[in-house]
Amino acid sequence: MRIMTIVILAAALVVAPACTKKPEVSAGIDLAGMDTSVAAGNAYTNGGWITATSIPADKSSYGAGAILVDEVRKRTQALIQESANTASAANDDTRKIGDFYSSFMDEAAIEAKGITPLKAQLDGIAAIADRHGLARILGGQLRADVDPLNNTNFETGNLFGVWISQGLTDPTRTFPYLLQGGLGMPDREYYLSTTPHMVELRKQYQAHIAAIFKLAGFADQDARASRVFALETAIAKVHATRVESEDVHSAVSWKREELAVKAPGLDWPALLDAATLNDAPVLIVWHPKAVSGLSALVAKEPLDIWKDWLVFHAVEKAASFLPKAFVDEDFQFYGKALNGTPEIRPRWQRGVDFTNEALGEVVGKLYVGHYFPTETKAKVQAMVDNLVKAFGKRIDSLGWMSPETKVKAKQKLSTLKVGVGYPDRWQNYSGLEVVKGDAVGNQQRAEAFEYHRQLSKLHEPIDRGEWWMTPQTVNAVNLPLQNALNFPAAILQSPYFDANADAAHNYGSMGAIIGHEISHSFDDQGSQFDADGRLDNWWTKADFDHFKAAGEALAAQFDAYRPFPDLAVNGHQTLSENIADVAGLLTSYDAYRLSLQGTADVVKNGFSGDQRFFISFGQSWRSKIRDAALRRELATDGHAPEQYRADVPRNLDGWYDAFSVHPGQKLYLEPNQRVHVW
Ligand SMILES: [Zn+2]
Repeated sequence: MRIMTIVILAAALVVAPACTKKPEVSAGIDLAGMDTSVAAGNAYTNGGWITATSIPADKSSYGAGAILVDEVRKRTQALIQESANTASAANDDTRKIGDFYSSFMDEAAIEAKGITPLKAQLDGIAAIADRHGLARILGGQLRADVDPLNNTNFETGNLFGVWISQGLTDPTRTFPYLLQGGLGMPDREYYLSTTPHMVELRKQYQAHIAAIFKLAGFADQDARASRVFALETAIAKVHATRVESEDVHSAVSWKREELAVKAPGLDWPALLDAATLNDAPVLIVWHPKAVSGLSALVAKEPLDIWKDWLVFHAVEKAASFLPKAFVDEDFQFYGKALNGTPEIRPRWQRGVDFTNEALGEVVGKLYVGHYFPTETKAKVQAMVDNLVKAFGKRIDSLGWMSPETKVKAKQKLSTLKVGVGYPDRWQNYSGLEVVKGDAVGNQQRAEAFEYHRQLSKLHEPIDRGEWWMTPQTVNAVNLPLQNALNFPAAILQSPYFDANADAAHNYGSMGAIIGHEISHSFDDQGSQFDADGRLDNWWTKADFDHFKAAGEALAAQFDAYRPFPDLAVNGHQTLSENIADVAGLLTSYDAYRLSLQGTADVVKNGFSGDQRFFISFGQSWRSKIRDAALRRELATDGHAPEQYRADVPRNLDGWYDAFSVHPGQKLYLEPNQRVHVW
């Protein structure tokens, strides 16, 4: 699972000036960002930065990741703009990124067209005459827009989400996965929770639905909005919870003929045909109860309500590419109300992000060529080697893991494929048509192109080297079915990795992230996938019982973090990620020692190597977030809020030694309360 929440972050040009002179080997510490008047922990490491920083008006959160995202986006924009300016001389791929971006930026043309780019789609919905027609439209909308295992995304406004990957129990073949969908808000909690915040949001959401109908020229907006909202509430009631969604064992394999029996109501042949899923004899249904519930709703709820629901989602989905009135209304709800972001970010930033989504590896190839030198790749590779070695030693010395499980763990570790920077093979975009001046069409064709690219995997040999993040993504990911990790070029940059900084810095930040992803291959998720990526628990029951017991202590530690009087962190929802944070930091601490090869510690900026290691970790998780966005994260995210992730060192004995942390201090834990799963 990925290391960070993918938040739609915006760049308000607050980027540090590029460093032009060749720096000395630095300690990599932001001294001014600390507050050494308080005890060790997030406040000590980041107190100065927290006081001095306010969240830019066009963001819902801000921190180390967001600052790097800003920098990467600025560089990416320059690369895309260059392609737009030199379109005639460029190759076809770079022409496409230039045209995609400049079409989005051409606001005058977008205003002039109004909603006409959606006319054919809306006419198609209006022409639905029966349940067969409804199923065809529902199927035709399906896209590869969710990901239950790698990038962990369960949200789609389409009735179902599709994911294409190898089989859970058959790593030799690729299958379509079917997930629950159909909501316009992020999760069922938004429809069913009785907290005042959610009750208020529901009112605003209904007003937003009505506003979209009005903008699109439909009469009876309020009545339509309340019917659409009622339908989505019924959908929410059949949805699995966020915690249930994480349970890989709830997925079932259904033959296509079984869909009509196990999930009656929908005209499945019509839906699958329209979704070009005819040649898939078996589907893996991730949310069987929800898929049955949704199918029943398709049969039960009046056709006209479904048609209204389809209209709302069609317009909403395209809103970013429509005239300003649509963009503003969309931001009013999804930006302001849902995330608490006061201002929409500049258009060019949205344009860069959409271009990245549509033609990710074209932009990525350019990015790597400009910003990811081979020396950086080699240095990161050396760090990865030390981390893998350190993790292997941790496995060897575990008291609780049985010898037979250790053999399997070492085997899995030895075949782990760690991708650094970019994929071995780049994607081919020759089949994607990008038309200058057709912003809506370009976006729709790009989504369809990606869906069909994913579907084509059904007929190809498994690619164990497939990447699931673009090189220009500031993030990292564990791929359980491939027994592989991706560390994109964009995260292998300062402040996470700095080729000119010392080992304490790089292991404290990037090393801990690499360790985090490695450990996922061996945690409650990883224990269920063997070295070939087959869903097969390779642990003994005693191993698992110990792991669960250790996990309970960590769940309780995070349950106690309470950012709002009425809302705490969910220790179980975030447990895998919290275990990975602890394991990643422990492993990187060992790997840092390995990298020193016995040389004596050097004090820099007044800090020992161990102190710099932990400070670097804390600074890599510095973050501020708006209340509404924090509430959203608590409800939907598998990760704990970053302010608490920064305090993970309280579980490491080495942290107590490094800073003389003692009883009575806020983050102090008795030795028997420190969780050392690994
Ligand atoms: Zn993770």
